[in-house]
This record gives sequence, C-alpha cells and structure tokens, in this order.
Amino acid sequence: MADPVQVLDTRMHGWQGITAVYLLDGPNPAVIDTGPGSSEEHILAALEEAGVDSLAWIVLTHIHLDHAGAAGRLAQRFPEAQVVVREEGARHMADPSRLWSSAAQLYPDMQTLWGPMLPIDKQRIVAVSSDGPAVNLGGGRTLDTFYAPGHAKHQMALLDSATGDLFVGDALGVRVPDAGVVRPATPPPEFDLELMVSSAARLHGLRPARVFPTHFGPAPDVDQIFEEAPRRFTQWVEAAERAVESGGGLSEMIEDFRARREEFYPDLPPEMVEKFEYSCSYDLNSRGILRYLEKRRN
Ligand SMILES: [Zn+2]
Repeated sequence: MADPVQVLDTRMHGWQGITAVYLLDGPNPAVIDTGPGSSEEHILAALEEAGVDSLAWIVLTHIHLDHAGAAGRLAQRFPEAQVVVREEGARHMADPSRLWSSAAQLYPDMQTLWGPMLPIDKQRIVAVSSDGPAVNLGGGRTLDTFYAPGHAKHQMALLDSATGDLFVGDALGVRVPDAGVVRPATPPPEFDLELMVSSAARLHGLRPARVFPTHFGPAPDVDQIFEEAPRRFTQWVEAAERAVESGGGLSEMIEDFRARREEFYPDLPPEMVEKFEYSCSYDLNSRGILRYLEKRRN
C-alpha cells in the first residue's frame, strides 16, 4: 500500500530535504504546512505532479514564514480549501503585514528569501482554540489538533486518526535526515523552554505511530526523538545561560555555540554543517534563547 503521507520537498532557498509539505490524499485532501512564498513554484509543481487538482484543507502547524508563507498562494490556487491555524496566528494569516515587518527585523532581503506572502480571506480561515478533531479528511478519518507551544505560541500538532501519524511542525526542533540529530529551533520572540518540554511530553503521551517534523520527513524512531528533543533544547539553553553568566551577550553566545558544535554533535558529517546551520541559524536561535532568558529573569 502507498504511504498515506506524501512528502513534498519545497526546495526552500535551493536546499533539498529541509522543509516539507505533507500531502494527505483521500476524499478531502489536505496539506500540512506550505513552505515559504519563495518556494511557491516548486510546491505547486509538486502538487500537480502528485495529481492534486483540488484541496479541501490547508493546515498550518504554525505561522512562521517557512511553514505558512505560501498559504495565501495555495488558497488562491485552491479556492475551495479552508485554512486551519491556531487562533493565536489566525489574524496574521488574514493580514500578514505585521508578521512580515517583524520578520524583516531579522532578515535582510525578505522578498528574495520569503516573498510573496498573500493575505487570506477571513471567511476561509478556521481558527483553532481547543484540542480535538478539526479537519475532516473523509471516510471517518480526521486530523486532531493538539496545542504545542514552546517553539512559538501559535504552534500546534496534528494527529491522523486513521494512521497515528503525528505532524509536529517545529515543536521538537529540526531533524533533517542526513544530519540524523535534533537541532533546537528557538527563534524570538516566543521561544520558551518549559513550554517546549511540557508540550513534547504531552505529544509523546499520544503514543503516535510516526512523527513528522516539518524539517524534514518522518523521524526513524518515535521514542528517540521525544527523548532527544527536550534534552537538546535544554543543553542549548544551559550553554547560553553559562555564556550570559560570564558576561556574554548575543555575539558571545553565537561564538560559544559555534565552538561547541563538535561537543554537541561529534558525529555530524562535515558536509552537513552548513545545511544544519542553514535550517535554524545560530543567530536566530541565540536571539530567541537570549530573549527567553531575559523574560525568565524579569
Ligand atoms: Zn517555526
């Protein structure tokens, strides 16, 4: 039998195997996450190649640009589709201008990296405010939502009621297959370690059959990723705390993470170093952890 999940590669910024769109076919076909606006051609081509001529659902694990950037374009291409997103992020999908301008503080060339990001008609947005079956895939099969803050406040996970597959967005960080390890994703402004750890424990308690981080593809071992992810996030925050305690700021923290790469990831293949850094940079992670530590102190 064909795999119930088709992994489409957005080829984000020219990289393969970093950012996925998951396609669940059936009576009411759904995609989970859309990749960035800058990948829209690849995404639309991959959907066409997969034989998708209509979509019932565009489901967003959260609204970061690498997950939701192309949602408006997909909504335009598939006018029958509804867009499902946590309520914390819903208004930014109807009007992405604030999301866009806050990201512009972190990235120099927004349009090339992420653009375009189109607004979505409010009527088509399903804002999720509690856990439960939110997406009817047809034939008694649903996607059930589970709120999973920590990486971001607008993050949720989706459990396929028929297969037990769990789509976690960035709740467990980034695990690209050719690196084979978890790299925390701790961007500003909402990263929170305690929330991340408790969300991970809660998702593990669902006993999913498989786990799909958006970056990238199914994890080979469910228990292993649930063990590794909170441990890695904690390891990075503790290292950052030590850098701050010894008087360091953002640049010292970034340097410290760079210096610890071999200590943290001794077996990372050398050709993976750049790809790994690319998938969630030291800069972004350090900014998010620094902000979290400041919030925790106050
Ligand atoms: Zn994210």
